[in-house]
Amino acid sequence: MPIPVEPVGSLPRPAKLQEAIKQYDEGRISKAELEAEQDDACRDSIERMEATGSPIVSDGEQRASSFATYPIVDTLAGTGLAPNLAPDGQYFAIFDDGHHRQLPRLTAGPFAYQTYAADNLSRSIPMATKPMKQAVIAPSMLMLLYPLDDEVEGYPRAQFLEDLCNETEKDIRKAFEAGAQRVSIDFTEGRLAQKNDPRNPWTGRGMLGEFIELNNRVLDRFTADERVNIGVHTCPGGDLDSVHSAEVDYAELLPSMFKMNAGYFLMQLSSERDKEYVYRLVGQHSREDANGVGQVAFIGVIDPLNPTVETPEQVRDDLVAAANYIDRQRLGATDDCGFSPFSIDDKPKHGSPDFARDVAFQKIANRVRGAEIASDALGL
Ligand SMILES: [Zn+2]
Repeated sequence: MPIPVEPVGSLPRPAKLQEAIKQYDEGRISKAELEAEQDDACRDSIERMEATGSPIVSDGEQRASSFATYPIVDTLAGTGLAPNLAPDGQYFAIFDDGHHRQLPRLTAGPFAYQTYAADNLSRSIPMATKPMKQAVIAPSMLMLLYPLDDEVEGYPRAQFLEDLCNETEKDIRKAFEAGAQRVSIDFTEGRLAQKNDPRNPWTGRGMLGEFIELNNRVLDRFTADERVNIGVHTCPGGDLDSVHSAEVDYAELLPSMFKMNAGYFLMQLSSERDKEYVYRLVGQHSREDANGVGQVAFIGVIDPLNPTVETPEQVRDDLVAAANYIDRQRLGATDDCGFSPFSIDDKPKHGSPDFARDVAFQKIANRVRGAEIASDALGL
């Protein structure tokens, strides 16, 4: 079996779409006009991703406000916020360049999604000729919608978590029903949970164990056959070409992360300082039998925050080195992160989102080619 490849999911939204989102927020264009721009961006994303040679593609999440907030708000400025939420929640993350992203706050029960990933996917699938994947958000991220210490009146935390697990499960099932071949769960908060940033109180609460347990509550509702195609993505963040938790040692995360009974993991790795150290950890902690499924580690061989395009030979060399530590039957190749998890992102290190899109497709093409020549080199 050659080394499998898979993207994380997002792509920069074209400048034209980001402008349309702004106009929609200001009430200058209608929802139908915004959706027409989103459709164009999805079609372009799918066509260009298919042209890279990737055997599985995404629509670049062009309709999502962000990887985390698509179920509950239409735009990052707060247009279309779901009922029972206020805009002033916890920081999700404070990034290294000083900017932050904030979550809404739950003010009452019950909690429910207003948009499922499948609602977006079902509009994109007819545009694709290749199999599609869909990324969804982890319950461990959305649990941060509930106030850290206070109780929401009339809606105990335990009830919220049960509703949240039901919605997350439904999100995954609906994505498969809509035709997704693979569904990966975004889990960027895992590494951030080990950061202990005093400016961002939840990161100092030792919540990683709780995150893992909650995510397994959802994963354990799926059979082993289903979980083969359910993945988890980990990264130190990726927004405005900046990160939030790269300084956290992977050794603080991986032993816990691989306790999740997912069939595969999409792992940031190309931008790690000491890759062999992490390959070894992956080899040690990934499980051949995670409740009936072998965990495949897709290592990041592409850095979406850096405009320099990796060559196929660099990709090959990373994979061949990783195969010294990770069972080659359980080794795959991915990007370190989505190329733009948040819809409004001017990709400052790239100079513009449109140029960053051109770069992204070159990077994806070289990842696909690099995995092919690595497979040859390894005799797979
Ligand atoms: Zn990521």
